Amino acid sequence: MAPVQGAMTTGLVFNLQKYSLQDGPGIRTTVFLKGCPLHCAWCHNPESISPRQEFIILESRCIACGECRRACPQGALTQGSDPLPRVQEQCALCGACSDACPTAARELVGRRMTVAELLPLLLRDRLFYDDSGGGVTFSGGEPLLQFEFLAEALAACRAEGLHTAVDTAGLCPTAHLLEIVPITDLFLFDLKCIDADRHRYYTGAPNDLILQNLQALSRVHSNIWVRIPVVPGINDARAELDAAARLTASLAGVRQVNLLPYHRTGVRKSERLGMNGFLAGLQPPSAEAIQNAAAVFRSHGLKAVSGG
Ligand code: SF4
Ligand code: SF4
Repeated sequence: MAPVQGAMTTGLVFNLQKYSLQDGPGIRTTVFLKGCPLHCAWCHNPESISPRQEFIILESRCIACGECRRACPQGALTQGSDPLPRVQEQCALCGACSDACPTAARELVGRRMTVAELLPLLLRDRLFYDDSGGGVTFSGGEPLLQFEFLAEALAACRAEGLHTAVDTAGLCPTAHLLEIVPITDLFLFDLKCIDADRHRYYTGAPNDLILQNLQALSRVHSNIWVRIPVVPGINDARAELDAAARLTASLAGVRQVNLLPYHRTGVRKSERLGMNGFLAGLQPPSAEAIQNAAAVFRSHGLKAVSGG
C-alpha cells in the first residue's frame, strides 16, 4: 500500500456503504461525508445535513437495559423517569453508548477518521471493484465541504489504482471543485431546480454558483453524470424539465442524466432527528412520470436513465 500523505487530516464520515450499485459504475463503496450547505425539503439523508456529530434516537426500541450508561466513560448518561437514559452536556461524542446499545435505540451519527484509517476499509473490496468495473464514491452531504479530507482521500485511492467518483451538489468554491478534477474519474453532479426562486425556496440556497460550477466543470472534465431528483410538484413540470435538458445538452462533459425518483426514506429519519418534515405528505412519482421525464431529456439528444 502506498504511504498516505498528510494522514492527520480528519473527516467526519457518517456512513460507509459497501456493495453500492447506485453511485457510479460497477460495485462501489460509497463514503458519506457529513455536512451540507443545502437543506433540500425532500432530503433522504437528513442525518447528512449537520456538519456535527448528532444522535438519532428511536425511543420505542429502548429496552431499558442500561448498557449505554455502563459503557459511557464520561458518566454523561443519566436515568430519569423514562426508560431511555438522557445525554448530559459532558458527553464527549465518543460513540461508546451507541456501540453498546443492543437494539440500535441510540445511534451516534458521524465518526471522525483519517485517510489512513479509511483507506484499508475501502481496499477490502478491491476484488469486487476490479471484477465489476467499480470503485469508490465520495458522497454526502456535500463532500466538498470537507475539501482537504476529500482531496487527500481521492489521492490515496488513486495511488492504489481505484476508480474514483465524487457526488456533489456543486455549492462549493469553484477552485476546490477544479482542484480535484485530476484525481476524480467521474463526477455525479446533482441538479435540483433550474428555476432560481424554486431552488432557493426548496433548498435554502441560490443556484447561480451551482450552475456556474457545472459549466466550469464541464469545460475541463469529460465524464459527468448529472443527477436530478424528480420530486412531484417541485421540479417535474415540463418547463423545468425542458430547462434542465437544454442546459445539460449544451455541456460537453455531460455523459448522461440520471433521474432519481423521490422516495420517502428520509421522512422517518427526519422525525427521529427531531426535524420538521414539511413535505411529509409528499409521495414518490409514478413510473410513468419518470418515463415522461426521461423522454424530455432524450428529445434533447441526451442519454437519460432512471436511478443510479
Ligand atoms: S457518546 Fe460517549 S461520552 Fe457521549 S454519552 Fe455516549 S458514551 Fe457517553
Ligand atoms: S443501551 Fe439502548 S436499549 Fe439499553 S438503555 Fe441504552 S438506549 Fe436503551
